Amino acid sequence: MKKYVYFFGKGKAEGKADMKGLLGGKGANLAEMTNIGLPVPAGFSISTEVCTHFYANKRTYPRSLNAEVAAALKKVESAMGAKFGDPKNPLLVSVRSGARASMPGMMDTILNLGMNDTVAGGLIQKTGNNRFVYDSYRRFVQMYGDVVLGLKPVHKDEIDPFEVIIEEKKKERGVHLDTELNADDMKDLVGKFKRAIKEKTGHDFPEDPLKQLWGAIGAVFGSWNNDRAIAYRKMYDIPESWGTAVNVQSMVFGNMGETSGTGVAFTRDAATGDDMFYGEYLMNAQGEDVVAGIRTPLPIADLAERNPVIYKQLDRIRHTLEKHYRDMMDIEFTIQEGKLYMLQCRVGKRTAFAAIKIAVDMVGERLISDREALGRIEPDQLNQLLRPVFDLKEKESAVKGGRLLAKGLNAGPGAATGRVVFNAPDAEAWKKRGEQVILTRIETSPEDIKGMDAAEGILTARGGMTSHAALVARQMGKVCVAGCSSLEIDYGTHTMTVKGKTVREGDWISLDGTTGEVLEGKVATRPSEVLRVLVDKSLDPKDAPVYQQYARIMQWADRYRRLKIRTNADQPDQSLNAVAFGAEGIGLCRTEHMFFGEGKIGPMREMILADTLEDRKKALAKLLPLQRKDFEGIFVAMNGRPVTIRTIDPPLHEFVPHEEPAQRELARQMGTTYEKVHQRVESLHEFNPMLGFRGCRLGLIYPEITEMQSRAIFEAAADVQSRGIPVEPEIMIPLVGNVKELEHQEKIVRRVAGEVMKEKGTKFKYLVGTMIEIPRGALTADEIAGVAEFFSFGTNDLTQTTLGVSRDDAARFLIPYVEMEIYPKDPFESLDRTGVGELMKIAIAKGRSVRPDLKVGICGEHGGDPSSIEFCHQINQNYVSCSPFRVPIARLAAARAALADAPASGAKKKAAGKKSARRR
Ligand code: ADP
Ligand code: MG
Ligand code: MG
Repeated sequence: MKKYVYFFGKGKAEGKADMKGLLGGKGANLAEMTNIGLPVPAGFSISTEVCTHFYANKRTYPRSLNAEVAAALKKVESAMGAKFGDPKNPLLVSVRSGARASMPGMMDTILNLGMNDTVAGGLIQKTGNNRFVYDSYRRFVQMYGDVVLGLKPVHKDEIDPFEVIIEEKKKERGVHLDTELNADDMKDLVGKFKRAIKEKTGHDFPEDPLKQLWGAIGAVFGSWNNDRAIAYRKMYDIPESWGTAVNVQSMVFGNMGETSGTGVAFTRDAATGDDMFYGEYLMNAQGEDVVAGIRTPLPIADLAERNPVIYKQLDRIRHTLEKHYRDMMDIEFTIQEGKLYMLQCRVGKRTAFAAIKIAVDMVGERLISDREALGRIEPDQLNQLLRPVFDLKEKESAVKGGRLLAKGLNAGPGAATGRVVFNAPDAEAWKKRGEQVILTRIETSPEDIKGMDAAEGILTARGGMTSHAALVARQMGKVCVAGCSSLEIDYGTHTMTVKGKTVREGDWISLDGTTGEVLEGKVATRPSEVLRVLVDKSLDPKDAPVYQQYARIMQWADRYRRLKIRTNADQPDQSLNAVAFGAEGIGLCRTEHMFFGEGKIGPMREMILADTLEDRKKALAKLLPLQRKDFEGIFVAMNGRPVTIRTIDPPLHEFVPHEEPAQRELARQMGTTYEKVHQRVESLHEFNPMLGFRGCRLGLIYPEITEMQSRAIFEAAADVQSRGIPVEPEIMIPLVGNVKELEHQEKIVRRVAGEVMKEKGTKFKYLVGTMIEIPRGALTADEIAGVAEFFSFGTNDLTQTTLGVSRDDAARFLIPYVEMEIYPKDPFESLDRTGVGELMKIAIAKGRSVRPDLKVGICGEHGGDPSSIEFCHQINQNYVSCSPFRVPIARLAAARAALADAPASGAKKKAAGKKSARRR
């Protein structure tokens, strides 16, 4: 016969911590605490299988349950030396819900059950404490009346009917606190409560304790499907099928007077991670009084003075629990007349800062291994260590002062404060004057790059997490709030309106890119410790505890990861930042970003608008030295690490001006007519540039562009190498779907390489490879790998072309798609493993079948997404490449993927770890 009920008490329990699925988190941990000898009041758990049965069978129980509960109740009675319903020596119990995953406050708990008029009389005789008995009684009637008999507020603005009665009572007695009510008042409340229940619900209050018990059990199972619980499950992806357990536990009383009390605590500080006992308690209180905010609780440190004996005992339990669970725990306890009882424990929730500090500290304390530490830090949590931060107190007071303007997407975490400007040239100009600015745009485009770079932060009204603004901000490590749709931006008047307020050019605002909040006015910020050590070099690592934690985690991550980590960067300073964060190379250098740089856009436009080959070559000749200089800077910064450079990729219309005045100006510069410029620009216009004249297609039709770029790269390589700095260029041809495209471009690249070597009388190593970013490229990877020495998955385009979705206008349906679970997550954020991933697998298998040492990487935005990185590890890629500020995140994600891949413990695993550490 199936077992449904599990007893705990007197130092022994039938359950244990790893039975959460069956006993719920609360039940399993009550059993565990009992087994390790902590003082837990005896009780029993009714398993989640009963909940499943309850819902599958019209809210009825398995036939054997009654007898099992009766038997367990007997055991509890004998453990506690009291009898349920016995007026002379009564046992009272609590009936508590407890699901597998903690759902704090979502379901209902009833205390002091087993109480009725005769039991109350008996208890008074036994304890001599009228007030305590009637306080317990009125609490019980209130909770039972609410949870089981359904006397609760009907409308959301209505006050709890029981509270109404209590308030009347207090008024009548002229007191403010519950504790000021005396025994007679409490007794009176019991009667009033019962009458209100009868009047409003028609139910008589059950006097029979067993009837009360089964009523409460049914209500707890019923609460699994209350609105609050359902909403919570949706939010946290908890399956309905899990069900809740019910815990019946003998009561201990924190409301027996000034030597009794109740409290909640964390074994370490859950906000900072500091190794200190952190919590609150109240004397002469019961249940949720501490968190309910009716009375102000006292800090746990206070208990050390007031009651050192109990404090010491509690502190010992704190250490016992941490040793046993090897984690930071969240506990609930009650003191009854000077004796301590444990009522709950679970792994404590914590901030990112605390998670990191606790993991590192616990390795130091030999509580956990370095691998376990890595497993406890979500890679994205590292973000918080890298970002500039707001002074928390200042921000809180700003929000309290009504300065919160709007909330958008937290696209670039960190804190930024500055004056609002509404276009990129202004941002640059203001910055030159020494101003701090926030670039505020409806949305951004590649033309805005320099303004974005000049800004402290970027704010957009439109666009999602992978919009241009978000993507570039992440690459630059800029603070960014994107898609803040409540902003009405008027470029004409240089104003934005939100919540009826008008923000003008030059007004101060502050962005919290970690939360997506936009605040009016200045809020003080400072760069993170990690950046002050690694990038500004303004802080000694010895004085930077947070940096030290970061460094330890990175050291452990590098010990276990197999994937190499590269970065996407196209400026020397970005590259240097990335190297400081641990990048082992550049996986994507976008040459077109360089064309927007100082003095380059002019010749670029001339090149695009040239009518003849001759004119085009003239313009290209102007670009050559400029590009060469860019590449030199990058090679020097990367100091011998591989650098993958992509030849020109975006559609040409992105480089030309679209407004009349700018076109007139360009015509003047080029010595041609406005009409001619205008006409050419129109002819370049594309409706869907994703599938247009771009990628290698540009280089095929205008081979002289590829030629110029190759020359710039190789001349730079030769020059830098001659200065004694090693170079490792990798030329990457984008958007290849047919091997013939690649052959055509490869010939140019190799010819130019040969020419440069000859001219300079030197030799250098280089690779030619391609981006795999359209399905045909993946499907014919064996042909392509005959020419390509490496593949880099361009998963942004590969996702667009595989799904047939253009990410720029996909938000309208992609968000509902994710809600409808058509895709589990936005496929532009987290790799679609089933579709896009399958193409990647095919490409790798086919590619390596003809070239076993084919180097494979990824350079799409997914290269910085932990789940996508895990997949890249699983399909045996060599490296991932991501924006500089995500490099630490990628290092950790790669390590976690490697550890998940080989979860075994012990000697064999350690050897493998050492070996891979030695390899690099
Ligand atoms: P939740 O799941 O919402 O935390 P609990 O079941 O933990 O609800 O109950 C809430 C509070 O009720 C506990 O923190 C504890 O203070 C009190 N409580 C529950 N059971 C008992 C008991 N057997 N004796 C004394 N207090 C109890
Ligand atoms: Mg609790
Ligand atoms: Mg592409």
